[in-house]
Parts: sequence; structure tokens; C-alpha cells
Amino acid sequence: MSIEQELMNRANSQCELCTATNDLSVYEVPAGDNSVNSSVLVCATCKEQLNDDTKIDESHWHCLNDTMWSELDAIKVVSYHMMHKLYKQDLIDMMYFEDDVKVWADKGLPEEADEDALVYRDSNGVIINAGDTVVVNKDLPVKGAGFVAKQGTAVRNISLVPNDNTHIEGRVNGVKIQLKTCFLKKM
Ligand SMILES: [Zn+2]
Repeated sequence: MSIEQELMNRANSQCELCTATNDLSVYEVPAGDNSVNSSVLVCATCKEQLNDDTKIDESHWHCLNDTMWSELDAIKVVSYHMMHKLYKQDLIDMMYFEDDVKVWADKGLPEEADEDALVYRDSNGVIINAGDTVVVNKDLPVKGAGFVAKQGTAVRNISLVPNDNTHIEGRVNGVKIQLKTCFLKKM
């Protein structure tokens, strides 16, 4: 029996992600072994969006709320990958994998998840970069420095704290301190 036929039987001839029944075909999960166990039967809509990030339509993926609990590892891994593409961290945090499946799932993730790509955002979600000027939006006692960074204080020419996108570094009252990004507003 072909993989496609086996998947058709397993899936009752439905897309295993969104349950559509038209234009079904085999999707091989990245970093799998190309067996039935690492393949998923998907419709054309799901397949297009799995293969081309520019085609992703978030409204198509409500099905992730169901597929993330699938008993089939391949379906969970595909769901996990799509959650990453949609930045659904709340769903990702709820997922549970056996150790070996987690290794598989992470292998297939796009490279962009590395630390260099950390994005720093101010209290309004605006992206902040090294060299920017930010304003403190509430009085912040500075631990160890014995002063308060007053609301409205501008901090110029900030630098980003490596590997921690909740903090930036800058000078207040001539002292170099770290500030939490959630208390800052970009100028
Ligand atoms: Zn589908």
C-alpha cells in the first residue's frame, strides 16, 4: 500500500489538520524519516501555507487548537512548526512531547529562531534598536545606585542586553544601568 493510501485510511480521507476533504495529498514533515509516521495527509490550502510562509493566512489555523492534542506525533510536530510561524507562544507552551519527538520537532524549525534574531520592544510593542533614545514611563528605583530614574527621563544611545530582550542598557545620571523594556517608550 502506498503512503498516500495508508494516510487516506488513517485520516478517513480528510485533511488531518483542517478536516477539509478536497485536494488531499501527502505532506512529509521536515526532519522526519519519510515514513507514514512522519507524514500527514493535508489539503491544498494547508499544504500551500506549510510550504510557503508568504501564503500563511492566520484565520485558516484555528484547527491548531485541536491538532496540537493529536495522538499522532507527525500531526503534533506540524502543528508545532505552524505555531512558531504564527508566533503562538501561548499554544507552544501548552504542548507536550516525548523527548525524542521534541528533538524531531525542533530540528524542523526554521533557522530564524536563533538568538541573534531577538527582537526588543518597548511598552507599546514598538521595536527598539541599539542607538535609540527611550523615555522612562514610570519612576524606577535603580538598585544599588541610590537614585530613582524619574518618569520622563530620556535615555539616549541605548544598547541592547545580549540574549535578554526584556532589558536594555543606558546611562541615567551618568551611571550605566539596565532598564526593563516594559517601562520604556521609544522616542
Ligand atoms: Zn487542510
